[in-house]
Amino acid sequence: MKISRRIAASRPLATTAMHGRVEAFRNEGMGIIDFSIAISHFSPPASVLDAVTRAVQEERTMPYTGVAGALDVRRSLCTKLARENGVDAAAGEIIVTNGAKQALYQALYAMTDPGDSVLIFKPHWPAYVTTCLLLGLTPVLVDLPETITADTLAACPPADLVIINNPHNPTGKVYTKDELQHLCAWMRARGAQMIVDESYEHLSFGPVHTSLASLCDWRALGVVTLFSASQSYAMMGWRLGFALAPPELAQAMQTLQGPITAATSHLAQVATVAAFECGPQAHMIEEYRARRDNVLHHLREVPWIGMRCPDSGPYLWLDVRSLTQDTEAFAEALLAEEGVAIMPGDALGVSGFIRMGYICDDTWTLMEGVRRLVAFGDRMAASR
Ligand code: PLP
Repeated sequence: MKISRRIAASRPLATTAMHGRVEAFRNEGMGIIDFSIAISHFSPPASVLDAVTRAVQEERTMPYTGVAGALDVRRSLCTKLARENGVDAAAGEIIVTNGAKQALYQALYAMTDPGDSVLIFKPHWPAYVTTCLLLGLTPVLVDLPETITADTLAACPPADLVIINNPHNPTGKVYTKDELQHLCAWMRARGAQMIVDESYEHLSFGPVHTSLASLCDWRALGVVTLFSASQSYAMMGWRLGFALAPPELAQAMQTLQGPITAATSHLAQVATVAAFECGPQAHMIEEYRARRDNVLHHLREVPWIGMRCPDSGPYLWLDVRSLTQDTEAFAEALLAEEGVAIMPGDALGVSGFIRMGYICDDTWTLMEGVRRLVAFGDRMAASR
């Protein structure tokens, strides 16, 4: 049987692969605690469930809409962009997708040619690199600076395109306006295009999130911004996202999306409108904050863990270099011995760190997973 060279040379996305393994173990009856990914234990906002229920009961679902999404859906997303992000956009600059992953693939496909280089700050969301490799692009990985300045950017190697994740998975960094302005000036000077992933826009614990597109002429610079309902509205399984792109790029992304899925399902578009009208989910963020603080409190005294309190997001980024650099082996042994899944930092471009999602399951399970993680690391430390 022939498998294309492109796929044969690729590897499954590390996050979804680990999550798939957890699901398979669970299907076999094994009680795995999953910190490898951040799947919220919250339900979607009630207004979304109502909107979808009503659309079904009143038989208002449409057949295929236009590839980019129904016009009223795209108009409502423009209203969201104006209200929440300070960005003026037209319906022709919006494309509704099955989550940010599809938007990312399509944006990268539309903005590059095989062989082009893509600058990605590490640690990075694994999908950035995996998608680049699928498209024959060359990822250029650079350490995420503590603070982005004109100098830190001047030191970056050249690239045709840059991917920024704001707020940042996994460190929780929320870019300041100053940092975003430096990025805009740098793009202008270098002539590089940019993809800005704002999927965590509503998961800040304090710092104000600013959309890069609100600070620059995003059409002229070639900036595509990605949005997702997965994290901001606890709707991972619904596969809802959209991209804001200059009209030529939005058109090019449709050319790709048409033969793949055509538009997203109309019921998903109904949910997209309702979700992006919701705004930040204060009760959810407060509960995430309490979990974050609880876990940090328990890990603070552990001598082999170094960490910072993240400003946003559902992850802790833990430094385990005093135990090991090889976090792939660490993750495998933790899974086998304690039934706890985490993401090895190597999958995010940085050895010696692990990423822990802390929003799945109930608090008892969270703290049991923390207890097992600490017991595992303590044993490892004692055996050296
Ligand atoms: N972007 C980043 C950096 C993420 O970590 C995630 C994960 O939730 C997403 C986007 C959401 O992707 P999707 O909308 O495909 O679920």
